[in-house]
Amino acid sequence: MAYRTTNPATGKVEKSFESITDDALAAILDETARCYRDDWPHRAVSERAAILKRAAKIIREEQQVLAETMSRDMGKLVPQAIGELQLSAAILDYYADTAADFLAPKPLPDAPGATLHAQPLGILLAVEPWNFPFFQLARVAGPQLMVGNVVVAKHASNVPACALAFEDVMRRAGVPAGAYANLFVTTDQIGAIIDDPRVRGVTLTGSEKAGASVAERAARNLKKSVLELGGSDPMIVLEDAPVEATVLNAMVGKMNNTGQSCVATKRMIVVGEERGKLFLEAMKAAMGSLKPGDPLDPKTSLGPVSSEGALQGLLKQIEEAKAAGAEIALGGSRIDRTGSYLEPTILANIGKDNPVYSQEIFGPVLSFYVVPDEAAAVALANDVPFGLGGSVFTGDLKRGERVALAIESGMAFVNNPTWSTPQMPFGGIKNSGYGRELSQLGFGEFVNWKLVAVSPPGALPPGADAAG
Ligand code: NAP
Repeated sequence: MAYRTTNPATGKVEKSFESITDDALAAILDETARCYRDDWPHRAVSERAAILKRAAKIIREEQQVLAETMSRDMGKLVPQAIGELQLSAAILDYYADTAADFLAPKPLPDAPGATLHAQPLGILLAVEPWNFPFFQLARVAGPQLMVGNVVVAKHASNVPACALAFEDVMRRAGVPAGAYANLFVTTDQIGAIIDDPRVRGVTLTGSEKAGASVAERAARNLKKSVLELGGSDPMIVLEDAPVEATVLNAMVGKMNNTGQSCVATKRMIVVGEERGKLFLEAMKAAMGSLKPGDPLDPKTSLGPVSSEGALQGLLKQIEEAKAAGAEIALGGSRIDRTGSYLEPTILANIGKDNPVYSQEIFGPVLSFYVVPDEAAAVALANDVPFGLGGSVFTGDLKRGERVALAIESGMAFVNNPTWSTPQMPFGGIKNSGYGRELSQLGFGEFVNWKLVAVSPPGALPPGADAAG
């Protein structure tokens, strides 16, 4: 498998790298195992924290160069790439700042003498996607390195420059080679890594297919996995949602990263016939006003999709949706310019038997629905295999919270699209995966909360009192 930067704005291959040999992989795993046994988890939490804070500082200082690297790998607009880098730095800082409290021993108040101690598990494998090339790595490395685990990361094959840049930041900050290592590996080698008894867990963000394959291999080895998979997030627009603010939020929810986000607003569900017409026109105007161009140019508001393959996949989904009766309310075609650009697209009149009704569309394509009432909106929102995020827009916050709770998902937002901060857990249910990243929940996914129960010298065996 070749790792290659193919700039999606130009179609040019800028760099490529071969997958490493099995011998090189074995050497990396040996180094990682040695680092876990003798070094990283034995360092004071404060020392690990200082290193991660240095990494955060480097990311902030070098954000322009790193953003351009991201842009060349996968086409992200530079201002959005800078936003991602700032979030990545904030994640590293947050776990550095909160680890001491989180990892402190926790006496069990109802069990005298019993305490839970946070211990790391060992080597973790992270398999990551291209769409947020720094955030994805930071949200695993930040918490897990603070726990004392060590991480080997297999990034997506189309973002090798980002994979190397993140590893380089970690190294310059002082993370030893055995505590964080980038791997250019093949799918077969991923299997072999999971089989290695020194590897104790795997986390994958990506498609259902890749998730199922990695989770199956982990399960066969009795190892823990966390899966962050695709989504088809609904945005429910109730009768009283203000039009302007809702459209602004929908634009961020839909078009951030050219729609290539697991938690993008993929389905807009508007309550009421007249409001449906109003919102459709407003979304057509807003999405239609985006200006395609070079993602390195700050004036560009519509970047390419990540690759020619991704563009062809999207065009096929649009064609199939149309053939099954959907109306193309906006766009629908490739943009006539160099690079892999798709017109912002809105699909309407999507019937239940249309393939896109239940698929994830990973690009600048909005599925638009109009329903008669709240109950129909919730039923439609939940009628997909996914359950990642979701949102509801309303002037009535109590009603908003009630509807948010009724959406079958791991996350739901009222009056904002789904978004991510270091403090909030991220993850889904149904085919969107299991487990969480970020927050205290993500922090704890690969921790051995080890029980140590201490009784005084000469204590009688358990149950001896009762037995007399
Ligand atoms: P993908 O094909 O599953 O790729 C994701 C990662 O898995 C890449 O590193 C890929 O490597 C690797 N991979 C692919 N097949 C594999 C296999 N059989 N065994 C082991 N590893 C394998 O996903 P994608 O289509 O590029 O990414 C988009 C998907 O990710 C969307 O569904 C999106 O919603 C989801 N996503 C979810 C979240 C979340 O937090 N829930 C966040 C972002 C994205 P190669 O690149 O070398 O193939």
